[in-house]
Amino acid sequence: MDKIFKKWIQALGKLDYVQGKDRPDVECILCAVRDEDERVRVLKVYEDEILFVCLNLYPYNPGHLLVVPRDHLVKYLELSKADLIHITRTIQGLQKLLNSLYSPHGYNIGLNEGRDAGGSIKHLHFHIVPRYGAELGYIDIVGKTRVVVEGLKSVKNKIDKHIDKYLNPEFYKSF
Ligand SMILES: [Zn+2]
Repeated sequence: MDKIFKKWIQALGKLDYVQGKDRPDVECILCAVRDEDERVRVLKVYEDEILFVCLNLYPYNPGHLLVVPRDHLVKYLELSKADLIHITRTIQGLQKLLNSLYSPHGYNIGLNEGRDAGGSIKHLHFHIVPRYGAELGYIDIVGKTRVVVEGLKSVKNKIDKHIDKYLNPEFYKSF
């Protein structure tokens, strides 16, 4: 396995662990975000009938997004073919959005299914992590002194302003 990818998976597991400590007392945090439960800080930036997109409350980098099926699915195999196509097209649309906002040098895109794979939030979700090259290592930023270059509010404002242009069927026809 690619060394950086392996490190990433380990870090994601660690991150979920860190998140677990101060996670709000809701049955499923992603269902709560979907339902705009007031007990969770709502970071949703987009939703449709199949999925929603939110900022990761504890991002590795500015623009770290989660793509989440609306249904409380636990396994990748539970996704229908139509859902999969929609999810992957959404991820591509989000990449185009992030490219325009942040010009990252690369991306980590993926999911962790099951606790042993680092997925402590059961509700299936895909991470999109833009990479900038000269950033801190993952392990460094998931500790107590988390360093993030740009605040969530600022990232959310930028994404809110432009997301409709990128996540719509008309735009999908262009690529
Ligand atoms: Zn859920």
